[in-house]
Formats: sequence, C-alpha cells, structure tokens
Amino acid sequence: MLYLDNAATTKPFPWALELYAKIASTYFANPSSIHYFGASAKRELEQAREEVLSSLKLSSTHRCVFLSGATEGNNMVFSGVTSTYASRGKTILFGATEHPSVKETALSLTKLGFNVKPIPVNEEGKVTVETLSSMMDKDVILVSIMAVNNEVGTINDIPALAKVVKGYPKAFFHSDITQSVGKVDMDYSLCDFLTFSGHKLGALKGSGALILKSSIKLESFHKGGTQENGYRAGTVDLAGAMTLSKCLAYEEKHSEENRYKVSLLNQHLRESLEKIEEIEINSPLDCSPYLLNFSFRLHKASVIVEALSEKEIYVSSISACSSKREPSSYVLEAMGKDHIAYENSIRVSFNPELTIGDIDMFTGALKQILSEVKPR
Ligand code: PMP
Repeated sequence: MLYLDNAATTKPFPWALELYAKIASTYFANPSSIHYFGASAKRELEQAREEVLSSLKLSSTHRCVFLSGATEGNNMVFSGVTSTYASRGKTILFGATEHPSVKETALSLTKLGFNVKPIPVNEEGKVTVETLSSMMDKDVILVSIMAVNNEVGTINDIPALAKVVKGYPKAFFHSDITQSVGKVDMDYSLCDFLTFSGHKLGALKGSGALILKSSIKLESFHKGGTQENGYRAGTVDLAGAMTLSKCLAYEEKHSEENRYKVSLLNQHLRESLEKIEEIEINSPLDCSPYLLNFSFRLHKASVIVEALSEKEIYVSSISACSSKREPSSYVLEAMGKDHIAYENSIRVSFNPELTIGDIDMFTGALKQILSEVKPR
C-alpha cells in the first residue's frame, strides 16, 4: 500500500494512540466536576491549552478552545461573529479557494442578510494584499483567508493580509491553518481566529482547536453548558485534547527537518511529472512542500485515481470533503485554469516517512496506467 493522501488525513502516530488510551483511562473524570479527581483532569486540560498556544508561538493574548476539528471551528467563527457583532456591519469576505467548511458556511449567511463576497485569487491561488485592500471597507466584520490551500498547497502571506484587516477596527481576521500548522513556518500573532484539525498532525480524528484573541467575546454556537470557558458546551474529550497538544508540539519540533524531507520528495515528483507530456502542474513553485497538484490533458483524473487505487496507491482527485459532490475543482477554476485542468486534477500529498523509492513507484505505476487506459 502506498498512501499519498496525507492532506486528507494522516495515520495517527502509534505513540499518540497509546497516549490517548493512557490518558482516557487515567484521567477519565469530567474536568468540569468540582471534586479532586475532576480538578486534576482540569489541570491537565489547562496545560494542554498552554502547550497548543506555545507550539503556535502565541501567549496569553490568545486562548484555545478544544473541539472536534476545523469544520466545527470554522462554523463557530462565522456563527459567533455574525450573531455577536451583526450591529458592526454586514459584509463578510472569504478567499475564493477556501475549504468548503468556510466557503459554504460563509455563503449560507446571505440568507441572514449578510453581504458575503469571495476574494478573487491570482493565478497561483494567492489572495494578494492589493486585492484584499481594494475590497475592505467599514462595513466588513469578518475576513477569512486560509494559510495553505488544501488542494494545491498555495501559501498565503497571512501576517501581511491580517495587517490589512487590522486597519479596520470593526473587522475580525480568521485563518484556517489546517494545512499549515506543524508544517509551514508562519506568524499567526495578528490573527483574531485560527482553526485546525488534529488528524492532519498524527493525532486522532475528532480533535481540533479554535484559537481566538483573549479579548474577543463570542455568543456560543452550542447551548447547554459552560465548558471551554463558555465557548463550546459539552463534555470535552480530555484525552483527544492532550493527544492533540502533544502531536502539535512534536510536529512543530520536527517541522524544519520534515519540511526538508518532503521538499526532496516533492521536487523529485515534480521533475518526474514534468517529463510526462500530458501533465500540467498546478501547484506554484513556492507552495507547501507537503502537496503537489497536477492535471491530465488527455485522461480523466477520476479514472486514473481508480486505476491507482486498484494498485493500492491512494491519491485524491479533489479535496476529500468535496469529491462526492463536485465533479471539478473550484480552486483550480478560481486560479484561472481551463476546464480540462479543473475537471482532471490529482493531488498527491506527502509525509516525511515516504522515500524517493515510493515516489518512483508512484510515477512508474502512473506511466503504466496512462499507457494502458484509453484517453477521454
Ligand atoms: N480546512 C482545510 C484547509 C482542510 O484541509 C480540511 C480537511 N480537508 C478542513 C478544513 C476540514 O477538516 P475536518 O474535516 O477535520 O473538520
């Protein structure tokens, strides 16, 4: 089996599974219980929060809310800002290539009277400072721009974009950092909200965090409890939160060496694919080294993904969250690619355990499939 779909999810670290089991059986008390056992669980929970903030190089300027993942966090940001700060303004801006959990959540707010606008990206998939500046005005209450795109790996200059939004005191800046956290070095200190999932970091599915500026008050999306400082009702998964904090710390600690390893794999694959005539590479050269996206000019991508899958080689045609619903990539379309490119793309996503031999196995299998499968 050759798993090249790490941007969809990663295999949990074996030590993370052990850690989860150990914490779940040691600290099974409810951190909200006022007895001694509950208080010890709460202490561990608060320590996990501190660890997450410290891994992100943030301090008491921000707080950490544990939740089930980026989708929930993204929903909470949009719902919280629009229900708490509606009187400030009615305009919401989001990057045109955002993950569906941002894009669809933002668009759903038009029903409530918000003026929701996608921010166009350039041909590399980046939101530029110039474009964002041209769309900002006093009516904007929320701007959401992802750090690294999940399909092509484009990196946005989050500190520069956040700085633009800081010029408008009524507007909040959110960044979905699911594909950058622990992987790409970035300063998040100017962001009001950050969201990410644990399962892209070797932690467990169903864990994640919302980071928000300590000064921000949000009406809770969930009703029925005061857990997570009132931001998320319901009993917290302490073992999930602690495992997430340890995996994030581990990934941050190894991020430079891991980035170097995956850069070599990425470069090797890019060079091999450039030799195949019908392949067009969509990921910009300065993208996250963890992803490489390309399109077929002659073959149908879904057929190639299936043929690779029969050989136990696993890649994505488009992001796992949209692949059931959409036949084509709105990310590539927003980047100005033509319909052949946006209907026939593949994403390969790496982890540092892979070898150059694995990449050669992938390109060998791909070439064989392209020679055997009839073009469109
Ligand atoms: N945002 C981005 C950028 C992602 O890549 C993903 C996962 N595909 C999500 C949000 C959603 O994450 P989850 O499904 O863990 O909630």
